[in-house]
Amino acid sequence: MSLFFDSNTTVYPFPPRPKPLAAEMKQYYRHRIKTLLKQQDAVMVAHYYTDPEIQALAEETGGCVADSLEMARFGSTHPASTLLVAGVRFMGETAKILNPEKRVLMPTLAAECSLDLGCPAQAFSEFCDSHPDRIVVVYANTSAAVKARADWVVTSSIAVELIEYLDEQGEKIIWAPDRHLGSYVQKQTGADVLCWQGACIVHDEFKTQALSQMKALYPDAAVLVHPESPQAVVAMADAVGSTSQLIQAARTLPHSRLIVATDRGIFYKMQQACPDKILLEAPTAGEGATCRSCAHCPWMAMNGLEAIASGLEQGGAQHEIYVDEAQRQGALVPLNRMLDFAAKLKLRVKGNA
Ligand code: SF4
Repeated sequence: MSLFFDSNTTVYPFPPRPKPLAAEMKQYYRHRIKTLLKQQDAVMVAHYYTDPEIQALAEETGGCVADSLEMARFGSTHPASTLLVAGVRFMGETAKILNPEKRVLMPTLAAECSLDLGCPAQAFSEFCDSHPDRIVVVYANTSAAVKARADWVVTSSIAVELIEYLDEQGEKIIWAPDRHLGSYVQKQTGADVLCWQGACIVHDEFKTQALSQMKALYPDAAVLVHPESPQAVVAMADAVGSTSQLIQAARTLPHSRLIVATDRGIFYKMQQACPDKILLEAPTAGEGATCRSCAHCPWMAMNGLEAIASGLEQGGAQHEIYVDEAQRQGALVPLNRMLDFAAKLKLRVKGNA
């Protein structure tokens, strides 16, 4: 059974894209960032969906490029006292929840996520209160306050396994916030799942009709889809999975041409993983298209070189992540529950957003 929380679709104001920098300014900021990282005992952790030049800089300076939990876990094991998180705000919060003793800076605290924005803590808590017979599972793409209200946090790479496990325990489930991923795990497991009606503005825009046309043009291509995409798009996939799982699929599938339905930022690491393959963006155009994101998250795009330098230079209320201690403790419980579950499964917990 799959139920949906019936809320109106919300349209979020998108931030302006950062202005492109001239080559000499890019060089200036790269140099400045490297100096600041050293001066501040900081390491840079970047998400797969940030721009390629940001991912390259993170790698070049001894940081990492990963999904949000891996970013946070890298931060836990790295000796640096400051983490510069290039991603969106919930990623900075997750890093702070797991590393309270470290300073967590972001290029901008205005880098949001439509899943996080679409699941306000109070409304969600009331929703949970009205279904007290259900266990609450939330995706990593949520605020610390929403995590603190949950029984479990989960990432896309172990979502099916966790829901299967809870179903075997006889649990009925509230799933939030992504409705497509919720629907996907419900179909895979047959569990009783009540979904919050959130969506990722990037993955929600992939279109089946245009994808069919593209497939007709490239019949030899495999289709790789992130499960935050609509179910009809997922149904066309040769491989469905989290960011890390899609990179792995790109490497192992025999096809030399791949159509990829997730944020185009992933192409940087995917192309590294399979340099000989041709990667094509899945279409976001076609009938009913809004193409507000056009396969690149506008909040991820806010993590430009200039903003990273400002984050390191200025810190403070404009750039530093603070999480209320009671909320942090509350969010830590379901986060640790997930990490323990993943360790028992001998799975590596990778792959939200
Ligand atoms: S790509 Fe989607 S899920 Fe990821 S941060 Fe952007 S809006 Fe959120």
